Amino acid sequence: MDEIQKRILALRAEVAEHSRRYYDEDAPTISDFEYDRLIHTLADLEDQYPQFKSADSPTQRVGGTVSAKFSPVHHEAPLESLADVFSYDELFAFGRRVDDALEDGHSYDVEPKIDGLSIALEYVNGRFVRGATRGDGIDGEDVTENLRTIRSLPQTLKGAPERLIVRGEVYMAKDTFAEINRLREISGEPPLANPRNAAAGSLRQLDAKVTAERRLDLIVYNIQIPQEGYQTHSETLDALAAMGFDVVPYKVYDNIHDCVERIDWIGENRDSFKYEMDGAVIKLNGLEQRRIMGSTSKAPRWAVAYKYPPEKKESRVVDIAVQVGRTGVLTPKAVIEPVRLAGTTVTNATLHNQDFIDKLDVRVGDTVLVRKAGEIIPEVIDVIRDKRPEVTIPFRLPKCCPECGSPVLRDIDGAAMRCTGAECPAQRLRNIVHFASKEAMDIDGLGPAAVESLVAAGLISTPADLYYLEPEPVAALERKGKKSAENLISAIEASKSRGLARLLCAFGIRQVGQKAGKVLAKYYAGLDELMAAGEEELTAIPDIGPVTAGYISEWFANPQSQHQIRLLREAGVSFESGEETVDNRFAGKTFVLTGALELFTRDEASEIIERFGGRASSSVSKKTSYVLAGENAGSKLTRAQELGIEIITEQQFREMIE
Ligand code: NAD
Repeated sequence: MDEIQKRILALRAEVAEHSRRYYDEDAPTISDFEYDRLIHTLADLEDQYPQFKSADSPTQRVGGTVSAKFSPVHHEAPLESLADVFSYDELFAFGRRVDDALEDGHSYDVEPKIDGLSIALEYVNGRFVRGATRGDGIDGEDVTENLRTIRSLPQTLKGAPERLIVRGEVYMAKDTFAEINRLREISGEPPLANPRNAAAGSLRQLDAKVTAERRLDLIVYNIQIPQEGYQTHSETLDALAAMGFDVVPYKVYDNIHDCVERIDWIGENRDSFKYEMDGAVIKLNGLEQRRIMGSTSKAPRWAVAYKYPPEKKESRVVDIAVQVGRTGVLTPKAVIEPVRLAGTTVTNATLHNQDFIDKLDVRVGDTVLVRKAGEIIPEVIDVIRDKRPEVTIPFRLPKCCPECGSPVLRDIDGAAMRCTGAECPAQRLRNIVHFASKEAMDIDGLGPAAVESLVAAGLISTPADLYYLEPEPVAALERKGKKSAENLISAIEASKSRGLARLLCAFGIRQVGQKAGKVLAKYYAGLDELMAAGEEELTAIPDIGPVTAGYISEWFANPQSQHQIRLLREAGVSFESGEETVDNRFAGKTFVLTGALELFTRDEASEIIERFGGRASSSVSKKTSYVLAGENAGSKLTRAQELGIEIITEQQFREMIE
């Protein structure tokens, strides 16, 4: 019993932690399917051992809390959750519970279960006055101002009762979600995890402007108050539609078994809905019958949510294609024989990266298991070894970019392989957006959307092209016309004098951001001096490690980079650091001092060497650059002679430091 209790407590703690991440932070770390499984395991244990039941258990309460960021709103009619079913047997068991409790015949309504954020909206005399999140179901968060930015939320209603509270779902449409993530990727922001968390995160904002930018939508599915005057749920939905709401699509069936057809249909056609869904909701249609069934502390007894299982299917890999993303990352994709998965025909599935391919040892010709991760991106999850044909070869990502031929380098801090081409067409947008961004060349008015339209019109295809733009074609493009085109051109002109530190950051060399740009601009008066420096010299600069030095040398060696630099130079972009530079004439050089010095003390000489970026060492090796030999030099001098190392006098050293 002790063990059982411990297991129950551990499960509750685990669920609580995931709920906190999901509801409070809008950033879950496990899939909904896995979460639902945890809840189910917990509920099964609590049913089996009722002595451990507790009103505090997440099986008994609506998840979510009320954040102190918002004013609380008390829900007059609680915003309940839904009990889940994962199979038709469980659905029919629900039907039997209803049959046992009710005498009359009863019908059911089947609706898609929209994966968004539950919301209660209050209208007085047909005007929207207040809206709140579900919170813990009893109290929610006041998000009225943010809700006002949603275009599909009617501010006024036609023919509404004097006071109306309606329940619905705020969601982010799939295409909006994809578009926002596309723009975020171009401008280097992390993508939003999924439409549900994107919607929740966007609505639970203190700044309504951010909510407005996220283009959320609303769909409603219940009248909370008043219920009088209606016989059935479907009547209330029709009434809501007549008032001007976007209402959940529904169909009514006389028998629980008949609902299956609609549930299957919704599952099969999930892809054609503009919102993400995580199931179908089956509700008793008669309102009086609902009152008889009542609710538990968490969910009504008159409805269940049927959750679609994540689908897995077998298919055969006919090819492995490599795509270059906007950040230059090469992503291998298995091109597979078409299979139907979660409502779509899938013809390719991601293989993530080389490490993933190696782990599964996926090869062209293999039969694989494919699933949709988070319902969105299909991925290969396993290889069926027994079905491997006789001749197959292991797959390796190419060493050169399939788009532009530049060398591909593996990230030192991850599994990603990246193209290094400054003019790579796949990275075009991203490179230009980064070049123009605040931390780089700071070109006012040149955000992702503006860059996109310039690229789409064929006016630019690399960062340097910006400096060759003429006002006329830009004016013809921009809806704002001449004035805005002139502003853009003068912002580009102004960026020419930003200086070396920003320019280096703008190049988008791996690991060379603002900070490294500044460090390098301290050591080199201009771009030409920097380009003349070898890897070894760069490594000698504090804060520039051998890996970064390698990335820098590699970047400058690439003909595409050299072409960019030529265009920038001709356009008159400043290559000067403009800063007082550090004299590092001894960068990468090692000195050994030996014998008696007359002009300097040993410490003085060492200090001078280090100030100029060199290193003073006590033993002679093949790596020694110079041996500074005074009177009576002994074994070190002999060793230097043996190794053929340059030997200098104090006088020569003095000339070197002049
Ligand atoms: P739920 O989301 O499964 O069901 C209740 C909700 O469904 C309601 O609040 C309502 O907002 C919504 N809904 C959508 N369409 C509806 C319709 N047509 N009719 C009625 N309601 C409709 O239950 P829940 O208690 O809100 O939360 C559980 C959900 O959150 C599960 O999907 C669970 O997987 C997920 N979750 C995930 C994590 C995680 O870490 N991944 C953590 C906590 C919760």
